[in-house]
Amino acid sequence: MQNKLFIYNTLSREKQLFEPIHPPHVGMYVCGPTVYGDAHIGHARAAVTFDLVFRYLKYLGYKVRYVRNITDVGHLEHDADEGEDRIAKKARLEKLEPMEVVQYYTTRYHLNMNQLNVLPPSIEPHASGHIIEQQQLVEKIIEKGYGYVVNGSVYFDVEKYNQSYDYGKLSGRKIEDLLSYTRTLKGKDEKKNSFDFALWKKAGPEHIMQWPSKWSDGFPGWHLECSTMGIKYLGEKFDIHGGGLDLLFPHHECEIAQTKAALGKEAVKYWMHNNMITISEQKMGKSLSNFVTLNELFSGKHELLKKAYSPMTARFFILQAHYRSTLAFSIKAFQSSEKGLQRIFNGLNTLNKITPSESSSIDMQSLKENCFKAMNDDLNTPILISFLFDGIKMINSIYDGNEKINTTDLEQMKKLYNDFIYKILGLKEEEDISSDDKMVGNLVNMILKLRQDAKTIKDFNTADKIRSELNKLGIEIKDKKDGIEWNKK
Ligand code: ZN
Repeated sequence: MQNKLFIYNTLSREKQLFEPIHPPHVGMYVCGPTVYGDAHIGHARAAVTFDLVFRYLKYLGYKVRYVRNITDVGHLEHDADEGEDRIAKKARLEKLEPMEVVQYYTTRYHLNMNQLNVLPPSIEPHASGHIIEQQQLVEKIIEKGYGYVVNGSVYFDVEKYNQSYDYGKLSGRKIEDLLSYTRTLKGKDEKKNSFDFALWKKAGPEHIMQWPSKWSDGFPGWHLECSTMGIKYLGEKFDIHGGGLDLLFPHHECEIAQTKAALGKEAVKYWMHNNMITISEQKMGKSLSNFVTLNELFSGKHELLKKAYSPMTARFFILQAHYRSTLAFSIKAFQSSEKGLQRIFNGLNTLNKITPSESSSIDMQSLKENCFKAMNDDLNTPILISFLFDGIKMINSIYDGNEKINTTDLEQMKKLYNDFIYKILGLKEEEDISSDDKMVGNLVNMILKLRQDAKTIKDFNTADKIRSELNKLGIEIKDKKDGIEWNKK
């Protein structure tokens, strides 16, 4: 039952049973960040979505090789043909070597991912480290007749490709529409058609990041790095390719075209895309979704936020929506995620305090089945979370004595929550500002345990000494029937 996972394949536009090409191995490639600025909540959604896929596949027993690239060849805006390279621009403005910009933001990205409890991928290749492989792929595409050279740049011939293959299959765009639209715009462009995209671009002298090639000193087109590194690390046929919906066109459409042109076949079995984060509260402004960085969110240092929200609140906020739905960013939504998360961890706390009865009055089996059913239905986390909340209600009413649970069910309940909350959803309890208090609490409990041991062996001298020493430190203890109570004076 658990292993029948269905995922929505963007390419075929339907939910499909997940069957890896070489079980138990799974190859997954996800488009990573372009490192020229801090990650924002949109980046977090992509990272958390595919972290969930990674975690769940591993939980189901697959051996996953997860490749998430770092786009450190800055490229140009959008179609990689116009404007200034974004990393180079940052480097110029801040008088840095481009690789300093890359290193700085990569380190910060990793820190953010760690805060969000996003597991590191198995391989994190940099585009700049795979220039030779990218050039080899360009050569292959030219050899097959789908690339042409103009003034030291190489372009992909979309119209020719479409004669043998089906350009636009992923995004649903029709080349006829693109053709009739773009022909009228044809001007001094060196490309045959304006929708042809660069495989290799000749660099101007002002362009800092450039590499030698047989065509020119230049740099690879943006779409090329993912085709190249996917094939290099996962082979010519691999299971999953993921990314944000904003990458569907042109990036992933062009990736498919390049790979098919070079290999004669599509490399990816399942294409997965997470939807975008939108703004629901008008007054917060459109800019917030694009510019509230994770660092601002976690520190509260953004005028519109009013307070800080923890990384786990952000993670839970993301998981409370299905990855293919849009997700509205609002203060209200964050506040309710914060509360919801607290309710879950309070429930787990209560779960650990429950003593089992002879029999059970709850339906543990259904709860478990419902949780897996939700997860196996294209990772439906909002439904899963609603079942987990139902379970928390059960836990509370067992604790209050309104329901009963036997030892077997209690063990199952603990395993269910441990697996879903920590392992699959990747949530964790966070140290709050009172973490010093927590440490004090743990130390006092440890000392009281030693005092109890002393009393057990009738060493009342030591027991009394501990009591008076703690008293001097401002800690008052009271021996009660069911244990010891202590308070700070
Ligand atoms: Zn990509």
